[in-house]
Amino acid sequence: MPLEGTDMAEFTMELNDEQKEVRDWLHGFAADVIRPAAAEWDEREETPWPVIQEAAKVGIYSLDFYAQQYFDPTGLGIPMAMEELFWGDAGIALSIVGTGLAAVGVLANGTEEQIGTWIPQMYGDANDVKVAAFCSSEPDAGSDVASMRTRAVYDEAKDEWVINGTKTWATNGGIANVHVVVAVVDAELGSKGHASFIIPPGTEGLSQGQKFKKHGIRASHTAEVVLDNVRVPGSCLLGGKEKLDERLARAREKAKQGGERVKNAAMATFEASRPAVGAMAVGTARAAYEVALDYAKTREQFGRPVIDNQGVAFQLADMRTSIDAARLLVWRASWMAVNGKPFTAAEGSMSKLFASETAKKVTAQAIQILGGNGYTREYPVERMHRDAAIYTIFEGTSEIQRLVIARTLSGMTIR
Ligand SMILES: Cc1cc2nc3c(=O)[nH]c(=O)nc-3n(C[C@H](O)[C@H](O)[C@H](O)COP(=O)(O)OP(=O)(O)OC[C@H]3O[C@@H](n4cnc5c(N)ncnc54)[C@H](O)[C@@H]3O)c2cc1C
Repeated sequence: MPLEGTDMAEFTMELNDEQKEVRDWLHGFAADVIRPAAAEWDEREETPWPVIQEAAKVGIYSLDFYAQQYFDPTGLGIPMAMEELFWGDAGIALSIVGTGLAAVGVLANGTEEQIGTWIPQMYGDANDVKVAAFCSSEPDAGSDVASMRTRAVYDEAKDEWVINGTKTWATNGGIANVHVVVAVVDAELGSKGHASFIIPPGTEGLSQGQKFKKHGIRASHTAEVVLDNVRVPGSCLLGGKEKLDERLARAREKAKQGGERVKNAAMATFEASRPAVGAMAVGTARAAYEVALDYAKTREQFGRPVIDNQGVAFQLADMRTSIDAARLLVWRASWMAVNGKPFTAAEGSMSKLFASETAKKVTAQAIQILGGNGYTREYPVERMHRDAAIYTIFEGTSEIQRLVIARTLSGMTIR
């Protein structure tokens, strides 16, 4: 089924006039505001609040903007936006879109009331911007989401949920106004026994643990989130108790018929969000490729531009070919997700796998083409290469994407 509120659209490889306008506007923001701030916030390793505020002022940091792209029936809205912002800088762009990733969890699973109550608090307003965090990963539950330990127990007398556990690697964890936390409500059901909860601002018992010092995307805050007897009202369970009870009953029934099917179905739900990460990777790869192309045309050795050597020119040809191929896979998967096409070959995972590996490779090639300069912080490609390494890790590592693709193609439980 297409996303609610969208019409079916034919797959197209061309942006329409309105999308081109949005793309140019985003590109202008990325070039004029994000790119010039990139090196500074990478060194500071802090959330770039002033840049987020700028984005809020012009309307890029807002639910309206995000929802408009998310519900674009062509499916190209989100990948186009991600590519442009991450072309500017990956760390800053993640600080800008991180809230949107948490908000989508609420948009997709929340009731009308939950959407109306919590999403505005995730963003704040242009004069007082806020961010949100999505907390699923745990120290012992990264790829293996089913081994999650954070527990949510229902206290019927008070109509409250009591949540205990430790989350890790949470983007905006601890600095978020609103946290969305995934917790186990029925341990027997693996990942089907999970539910998502809103943790409202200022809730007692939620604290930030360690803040990580990272290899790349250093302008994006990543931290542990500790939940110590956190109590939230029943209304904070995303989707509501009735829907959860129905879902658990269905999952118990299915589990009786065959546990593996339950596990695989849970993995498939990520297919729809993975193209967005692929698009981020395309943005970083394209940025590095452009720097390398410019450099190769102007840097002279042996009395001619270095691009005059096939060894350099062919690398650039391969870089551009891979980037375009990655974008096509991302656009296809994103169109499929929006238009409710079944991912019969795990096309979402395919797009994320290919685009993220492309970004890692292309940014490394860009360093090589810039030679010594590429290896210094005087030029942006070394930062882009550090940033690119995240794409093969978060939202499922490359190995997990391959596992999902192989399982989908074969219908077998490949380990
Ligand atoms: C900067 C950053 C931001 C993040 N943001 C968030 C966030 O906002 N919210 C959130 O919930 N999480 C977030 N994450 C967590 C991220 O999704 C996990 O790091 C990722 O899922 C991998 O889990 P792991 O790190 O525990 O690696 P592990 O699962 O321990 O994997 C270690 C290695 O083993 C491989 N491996 C594991 N299982 C298999 C298998 N079955 N077959 C083959 N290979 C396998 C992996 O591919 C990897 O190479 C973030 C992580 C980082 C680094």
